[in-house]
Amino acid sequence: MASRPESDSPSDQQLLAVLRALPHGLVVADATGSVTLCNPLAIELLDLPRQFHLTPYPAEALEHYLHSSDRRHDGDVMEFPGGRFVKLTRSSTPAGGNFILIEDVSAQVSQERARVQAESEYRSLFDNSVYGIYRDNLDGTPVRANPALAALNGYASEALHIEAVTKQPRNWYVDPARAEKFARIIKSKGRVKDLVSQVYRHRTGEKLWITESAWYVRDTEGKPIFIEGTLLDATERMANLEAIERQANFDSLTGAANRFRFLRRLDEATRPAMKDCVLFTIDLDHFKEVNDSVGHAAGDIILKDVASRLREIAGETGLVARLGGDEFAILDRGEGALAQSEVKAGRIVKALCQPIAAGGRSITIGASVGVAAFPGHAANAEDLLRKSDLALYEVKSAGRNGYQIYSSELHAVLKRQKHLERELRAAAEAQAFELHYQPIVDSATNRVTGYEALMRWNHPTLGSVPPDVFIPIAERAGLMTRLGAWVIGRACEDLALLPPGLRMGINVSANQFRSPDLFDHIASTVARTGIDPRCLVFEITESVLVSNADVARHLLERLRWLGAQIALDDFGTGYSSLSYLQKFPLTVVKIDRSFAAGMFEQKASRAVIRAIMGIGRDLDFEVIAEGVETKEQIAALAQLGCRFMQGYYFGKARPLSDVVTDLALSQMNVAAPARLPLALAR
Ligand code: C2E
Ligand code: CA
Ligand code: CA
Repeated sequence: MASRPESDSPSDQQLLAVLRALPHGLVVADATGSVTLCNPLAIELLDLPRQFHLTPYPAEALEHYLHSSDRRHDGDVMEFPGGRFVKLTRSSTPAGGNFILIEDVSAQVSQERARVQAESEYRSLFDNSVYGIYRDNLDGTPVRANPALAALNGYASEALHIEAVTKQPRNWYVDPARAEKFARIIKSKGRVKDLVSQVYRHRTGEKLWITESAWYVRDTEGKPIFIEGTLLDATERMANLEAIERQANFDSLTGAANRFRFLRRLDEATRPAMKDCVLFTIDLDHFKEVNDSVGHAAGDIILKDVASRLREIAGETGLVARLGGDEFAILDRGEGALAQSEVKAGRIVKALCQPIAAGGRSITIGASVGVAAFPGHAANAEDLLRKSDLALYEVKSAGRNGYQIYSSELHAVLKRQKHLERELRAAAEAQAFELHYQPIVDSATNRVTGYEALMRWNHPTLGSVPPDVFIPIAERAGLMTRLGAWVIGRACEDLALLPPGLRMGINVSANQFRSPDLFDHIASTVARTGIDPRCLVFEITESVLVSNADVARHLLERLRWLGAQIALDDFGTGYSSLSYLQKFPLTVVKIDRSFAAGMFEQKASRAVIRAIMGIGRDLDFEVIAEGVETKEQIAALAQLGCRFMQGYYFGKARPLSDVVTDLALSQMNVAAPARLPLALAR
């Protein structure tokens, strides 16, 4: 170590102490290129050979060492194995030498490396995120935007996006109130979380839904300097939500509220202390028949049309709902709902019996409407629904196409019907039914040609309940198919006990006619009882033919193939379309008893009978007049060419035993009871 001549210069000892205490390594070389000084930290940091203690040491040798290939250099930073980094700073001494300051920069380097790593990771997230990410100035001008945000706004890159957004600021939110909401929230809470809004795509003006979050970036004093945020295109999610919402609440065909929504609204409207509301339950008359005959596409058009007519009547305050197939409802909560309920019910009926154009045809359906009011008739939703339904049921029982407002008397009637329905079920179980037979007579010969089987219900307390009362109830209760099958069985068994050649009229109800087992049941009954199927006459009404024309025709053809006859019953009361007589394989037409009854009062009755007789001759079917009660009617009918008759004049329906007795008497040529001109047709 060089000696220091000046007295105030530090001693070698002092110098050595300073060098040792230096936080950095130090190497000094003189002008000749020899290392003259080197502190221990330098040796340690540079991992120098021990002999460096032995100065002077050629500086080139040091440089050579420093640049030797087994160490990596990054500028003046050397990396040693084990992650140690050392920085060398060279400068010249006043005496023309050099010194090298050696710092351990491992900590800084690894920090920097971590920072770079984090930066690149962040960059990757920023660039590849499906979220739009941005940083804006507080005034909303963009600072940064990632590719996802650029794409969301319709731009190919961040630069294009920022340029466009800066040069042409546009309304971003479709609803300007959203912008205010955003500003309000971020100002008050410092952040916005999952705010869903509809916005315009900047480049195209197209609307889309986004969900966004945003927060302030603050300076060290906590003052906001930027707004940063993320956002995601939520258009698809919203569309799904909307679809789900629609599906959950609305009928997809008609757009009317569905049952779920309707029940919820009904529930709201009937909470205690709510204002008056009126419920209309609406059933389309014969929709199923129409739907079957015109096809489902036309049926759909009808339903849509019905819904739109109902919407018009319901107005703003009424909720139109489709509760099922052809069942609709209107819940009216408007001012004066109660006062207008009757007028509205009338309007509904009227509107729904106007023809509807569907499937290239003009179709007229009708509607039955039941009406009940809250809180006048019912105390809660369930009750209101039930009472409106009861009123509807009454309209249907009374022949449809009209309205009925619920009343307590109605309630009593319906209660009785329900009671009967229960008893009827029990009776069906117990087989408490009987068949009575009413003769059908050839007035030209005064002979009985056959009988019509008519059902009787022997009720333990009510006595004999007429079929007009219990059959509609049995139909509604779904019992008629079963009862009808029993009728067929019993009528055939009874026919087998009568002299051959007599015919047996058997009524088949609409529901029974639809039963897929009907034909097989008839065929097997014929086989079982051994009767001549040509003696069977199945009586059906026109409604059966309207309801499902193709299926009906097919079944009728099979019955004809079996040999049975088909009679169109109660002709003149229903659709009275003469075209049915041509379209279906019918062999008999029974003119409804109202025509015989009206013959002398209404000219039209005679005209209709005459017309039917004419067609009967042309198309070759037999005509039977029903409800013949007087000699005068017989004479008048005979004059119109009607030969076959049925009615109280010839005899009421009576049990088989009576019929057998009468037949036996007439065969023995013994005088039959008065008014029973019985002779056996051969
Ligand atoms: P319907 O098929 O038109 O039967 C004729 C009805 O007219 C019978 O009433 C009969 O008693 C009544 N009647 C017969 N002659 C006269 C008359 O001179 N004057 C008057 N005023 N009425 C007369 P009923 O037995 O009460 O049957 C009523 C309806 O019930 C029948 O009308 C038929 O539609 C239905 N019905 C009866 N039995 C059955 C059955 O076994 N199955 C089905 N599906 N329906 C049945
Ligand atoms: Ca009949
Ligand atoms: Ca009849």
